[in-house]
Amino acid sequence: MTITTIGFDADDTLWQNEQFFRMTEQRFAELLADYAERDHLEERLLEAERRNVGHYGFGIKGFTLSMIETAIEVTEERVPASVIRELIAAGQEMLRHPIELLPHAREAIEAVTGDYRVLLITKGDLLDQERKLAQSGLGELFDGVEIVSDKTPAVYAEIFARHGDGAEKAMMVGNSLRSDVLPALEAGGWGTFVPHDLTWAYEHGEAPTDHDRFHELADLGALPDLVARLADG
Ligand SMILES: [Mg+2]
Repeated sequence: MTITTIGFDADDTLWQNEQFFRMTEQRFAELLADYAERDHLEERLLEAERRNVGHYGFGIKGFTLSMIETAIEVTEERVPASVIRELIAAGQEMLRHPIELLPHAREAIEAVTGDYRVLLITKGDLLDQERKLAQSGLGELFDGVEIVSDKTPAVYAEIFARHGDGAEKAMMVGNSLRSDVLPALEAGGWGTFVPHDLTWAYEHGEAPTDHDRFHELADLGALPDLVARLADG
């Protein structure tokens, strides 16, 4: 039952991310206020994102293209080029947003590094994730970094086999039930849910009610104690 490897999600687990999407969505709604109600726009945008994720993957570039597509749809192809330009600018601004670490992120990683193989496992645009990791100053703490196109049970099984002793001896820690917790559990590993106030609707999932490898923590400050408790059996 011993855990030897711990994987951390990045966005909204170690640093703020979703807040920049929400701010841009607000700008998107303002730009298209003459054409559609805010609720309707949000719904249409989420539909476009879900439709497109298989083509573009996760991240800001795909989000920007989905905003443009939605703008064209809701205006029945009348959206001015100046609005498209603003949407592109908003997306580019997101690619420059500063890194703001979440409370306890650094100390939680420092507490387990050395005793465990510590991995960063994130999905999204490759360049953007590399930029954020570099700016976070956390890069040196990880034994491995994996930027993947999606987080499935097979992806976790492969990563934990390659870097560690298999998923059975690995824990994934993150704010997304759908991407971090449930697929890690399904792969045979441990899943620790650290909710964030802002989580993209796509990432929602049903928390397991009775699973001995599932844990939920209020924040990362509680992670070292959980890991120590599990090590003591
Ligand atoms: Mg996340």
